[in-house]
Amino acid sequence: MNFPRIVLQNSKADAVRRFHPWIFSGAIKQKDPELQEGAIAEVFSASGDFLAIGHYCGGNIAVKILAFEPVTSVEKLFLDRFHRAYEVRRQVGLAESDVTNCYRLVNAEGDGLPGLIVDWYNGTAVMQAYSLGMYEQRSQIVECLQSVYGDRLKAVYDKSATVLSKTQSTNQYLLGEKSDGVVQEYGHRFSVDWEEGQKTGFFLDQREHRQLLAQYAKGKRVLNTFCYSGGFSVYAVDADAEVVHSVDSSAKAIALTEDNIALNNPHQVEHESVAADVFDYLKGCDPVYDIIILDPPAFAKNLSARHQAVMAYKRLNQMAFDKLRPGGMVFTFSCSQVVTPDLFKGAVMAGAIESRKAIQVLHSLAQPADHPTSIYHPEGLYLKGLVLSVE
Ligand code: SAH
Repeated sequence: MNFPRIVLQNSKADAVRRFHPWIFSGAIKQKDPELQEGAIAEVFSASGDFLAIGHYCGGNIAVKILAFEPVTSVEKLFLDRFHRAYEVRRQVGLAESDVTNCYRLVNAEGDGLPGLIVDWYNGTAVMQAYSLGMYEQRSQIVECLQSVYGDRLKAVYDKSATVLSKTQSTNQYLLGEKSDGVVQEYGHRFSVDWEEGQKTGFFLDQREHRQLLAQYAKGKRVLNTFCYSGGFSVYAVDADAEVVHSVDSSAKAIALTEDNIALNNPHQVEHESVAADVFDYLKGCDPVYDIIILDPPAFAKNLSARHQAVMAYKRLNQMAFDKLRPGGMVFTFSCSQVVTPDLFKGAVMAGAIESRKAIQVLHSLAQPADHPTSIYHPEGLYLKGLVLSVE
């Protein structure tokens, strides 16, 4: 096949030779005049060596690379990547599990498919394309999903319009139709609303950390802040916590939490959910908790907001340290990509200093195996967490 061509500046080929999956606009020396956003283009060094092939995106990240060798069939490339992604999920015990039927199948750069997220919810695949090139390949993406899952694939919901302003389209089913949306995660049941919910409907990236919480929650008084659909709360209730309180500022999230607790709670553990701002709630509540979970939304979406975010993490963590009973624990997270693990730990430490308590790090956490990162693309790491024991 003949693809449009992009030629890089002299010094800019090295990053591509180190397999970094993005080419920034400043690296481009020349490109075919007919090259349109969304097209697949081949990238060459100034001396004419083939470097890569990828989606031309037009913006600051000008190319998202699909492969570092020539490609004769894009269809085959996509099929291979999807089958490989599935194989990894099978390898780590998620696909074909008896207790879990929801997981991330495609994690963008981490699976060699920059600009594409696909989450699997027990028969429904929910996709989000973050580039026009990926978006334009959605019928091919459906074919790949059919090839991977066969009859197990009941529906494909495209939720790209939420994240990709360039498309004129709306979110819609590309295959099949709406189902009840009930999934299982480590045997816990959740009702997932991918059409109206946040992200693709559920925060799959916290699965292993919810499971970790379950190990500690028996008989404990647990506060789950920024609870969204109650993921941590359900695990705490099922682990026979003494009391679980869930807090989120969104009334919709509180309703989802109540639904999910009702789906799982035959033990009549005391659960209460509160629609409130977490900072206000923490200010006003008594220091009665054994475990507090802090899982806020990304406080910083870009570098310019990073300092503010660090200050907010500091304040939030300090408030939590003050609301624990002696010997309590905090599960604290950051999903801001621009806040590195060291920076996050520093912010939590600053909050700890203010609280003047002895605090131990029991676990350092990161995103799970179905949210892999490419070793060549450290930017793919976004989720960081610490589990702390507080004097
Ligand atoms: N822990 C959740 C995911 C959290 S997503 C899970 O495991 O599923 C972040 C949540 O924080 C969202 O539901 C959002 O509504 C809520 N939120 C954002 N800012 C808030 C604030 N200041 N106070 C309370 N909730 C907030």
